[in-house]
Formats: sequence, C-alpha cells, structure tokens
Amino acid sequence: MKLHKICLLCMLLLFSNLNSIFASSSAELYLSEPNIRVGLWTKQSSVYISGEAPFTLKNLDNSQVVGHYEANAKVFVTVKDDKVMVNDKIINLKALEISLQENNVDAGINVNKKKYRGKVTISNVNKGGLTVINTLPIEQYLYSIVPSEMPASWHIEAVKSQAVAARTFALNNMHKHEAEGYDVCATTHCQVYNGKTVEMDRSTKAVDDTNGLVMLYKGKPISAVFHSSAGGRTENCEDVWGTYLPYLRSVEDYDQGAPNYKWEKKMTPSEVQNKLQAAGYNIGTLQAIEVSPLNKDSKADDRSSTGRIKTMCFIGDKGSISLEGSKVRSILGLNSTLFDVSLIVPNEKKIDVQIGMYYKKDIDVNLPPYKEKGLLNDKENIRRITGRTGELVLFNGFGWGHGLGLSQWGAKAMAEKVPETDSLYFKEILRHYYQGIEIKKVY
Ligand SMILES: [Zn+2]
Repeated sequence: MKLHKICLLCMLLLFSNLNSIFASSSAELYLSEPNIRVGLWTKQSSVYISGEAPFTLKNLDNSQVVGHYEANAKVFVTVKDDKVMVNDKIINLKALEISLQENNVDAGINVNKKKYRGKVTISNVNKGGLTVINTLPIEQYLYSIVPSEMPASWHIEAVKSQAVAARTFALNNMHKHEAEGYDVCATTHCQVYNGKTVEMDRSTKAVDDTNGLVMLYKGKPISAVFHSSAGGRTENCEDVWGTYLPYLRSVEDYDQGAPNYKWEKKMTPSEVQNKLQAAGYNIGTLQAIEVSPLNKDSKADDRSSTGRIKTMCFIGDKGSISLEGSKVRSILGLNSTLFDVSLIVPNEKKIDVQIGMYYKKDIDVNLPPYKEKGLLNDKENIRRITGRTGELVLFNGFGWGHGLGLSQWGAKAMAEKVPETDSLYFKEILRHYYQGIEIKKVY
C-alpha cells in the first residue's frame, strides 16, 4: 500500500510539467536533457524548406506522411485564404513537421536559407500566417547561442561561463512564449538564435565541457541575465528592474579593457526632443534636463549606489516628464544608464586669419569645447538649453548594457589571469557575478 502511494506520487510529478520533470535525485532536476522549442518566424505567407539529407514532411494533425524528399529537394509551403499549400498542392492541415530521415549530425534542415538542427514545424494555427518552430535538444541549441553572445575565440573559461549562463537563462525562460506555441523566440528578447551555421568549435567545446551545468538558487535555475560590460561595477537588480533578487548584487567589474568602458554620444537639443516625441512624450521645445551629476559614490535619490540613473527629468515649454533610466537609455539609444549629461558648444575647428591685404588663411585650432555648467541661479542638476548656435547635449558614460549579472568583458579579463588549463575557473567567474548560487548538473 505504501509503495502504491509512492508510485502514485511519482506519476503525479511525472505529468505535472512536461518539460521540467523533477527527478527523484536532488542533484538532477530533469530526468533527461529537455528539448527547447524556438520560434523562428511568425506571420509568414511562404516558407522555403530544403534538407541536406533526405527528409520527410508529416501532417501533425493525423501523423500521415505528406511526402518523402531527396537531399536538396526544394519545398515551398505557402498559405492563402487560410489554406496551406505544399509546392502548390493544397493540403488540409494545421501543422507540418519536417525531419531528416537519418540521424546525420552534420546535416541540417534549411529553412529560408538558414540551417537548423533537430526538427522544424510549420503551423497555421495562429491567424495571420505561418509560424515556424525549431525543436531541438537544449545542448544543441546552445551550440548556436553561445558564439552569438560571446566571441568563441575568447579564453575558454570565459566562454564556459557564458555557456552556463546561457543554459541557465534558457531553462529559466522555458515557456516564456507558451501563448504563441513555443518556449523562446530567436531574437534579443530571449537569446539570439541563428541556427547551425554560426556554430564554432571552441564554443561547442565550452558547451560540451559544461554539459547540463546550471546555476541554481534555492534549487531553481536563476534568472541568469548578462551584459557586455558594467563600467566598473555591476548593479543591484532592484535598482534596474525594481525587483530584489538575492543573487543579482552589485559587485566589482573588471571591464576596463572593454571598448565601451568609456563612451560619449552627442545630440542636438532638437534630436533629444524628437526622440522623446517619437516615444510619445510631447513636452514641446526642450528647455532643460534635470539629473544629479555622475559621482560613483553619490547618495543622490535619482541615481543608484553605483551612479546609474534611476530617474531623469526633461523639461519643455509645454510640460515636463520624469522617466526611468532604462527608458531614457532605450529612447535615446545610449549604451547604458551610467552616464552624465552636459551642454557644450563646440569651438569652430578653423578660424580665418587675415594676412596682409589680399590673403586669408584657415588655421586649425584645437581648443577644448566650452562646457555649459548651467546658469548661475540654477542648481547643479539643471542643464539649461541656451539656444546658442551649435549647442549640443553631451552624454558621457561607462559600460554597455543593463549592468546586471555576468559582465562578458569582465569575465574575459578574469579568465585571462589564469592558464587555459585551469578548467574549473569558469565557476569562480560565475560565483563572482552571481552571488550565493550553486552550480549543479541538472540532467
Ligand atoms: Zn522572446
């Protein structure tokens, strides 16, 4: 009787979640390596299919074979007036599956001229066109993800830390697009996925060397967000997204060698105004920008402890708007929220010098631009636009990305301090950027 009850519990657990089945052992969260369904395209009126080996099309409504095709045969799937056609022949179905007839690791399925591992399904269930989904084991998915996120030529321990972060991120994001019929999309919204063509030997090795390893907090895959470089210090999660996560804490970054460790961007006041307007914030003519000066130890309310902008105010002649730092970053297209703002009037590069009666000569001058610190009556956090000819808004800042979790340039710098043979160092990198986590093999 007791045994029977235990079996019943096992059955319940088994059917509770098709993709993340909890195994009885505490060390392994999954009974086997899960598959991931990646949404490649939606709303397509036609899809071009080919196989590098013989392939089969199956009607998923009734499991009947629609056709067997030789390697490199071309198949066009189109939809018109809600009718699906395969090479101009109307097929009454909602979903098609394309699979290779033999398990050939080097061969892929070509969809719209990109090459994919695993199986591909084309469905007509979402109105408005065809949805194309690639289903494959998660480790094979990572073969493509890792080199798209970090150069495969970097130190192997850095690439391995990226592989574990990407695997954890994917498992944490499973079912994000369930409403659309897949797990993750193929864009930066989830992780950029371009199929088999972008795979590189070194990143494939980094995935294999860390097979099944995932970062866990209290037994669950963490939200393993990562970014290019943090500009000296990563950020606390609540200061970027408003949500506290115990493992996304502000730690020192080693990204001083990153190309965007320091950056600057200049815009005319009307460019700033137009970008705000395009995002739906019509404040009239921009008159001033209000934000505390960047001071990495500042206690200002509108900046985080690392100096990232939490809120920033744009004042116009028709009204003013206070926006979150991340919103300002996306509207103005800036690298990060760790920046300062000033108004400058660049000096003319050449001045005319009269020589004698008849000659004029252009002479290069290289004076520093004049920095506008605001009018005397203004507080130091007000940057007033004066309307002088050539006036520019200068944004100068640090780092690239949201500053949460793993910094890729920081991981690179950490890895470069150890020999390539120190094959467990990737765990040190991960434990630095994600605090208090466990790294475990979950399948
Ligand atoms: Zn997505």
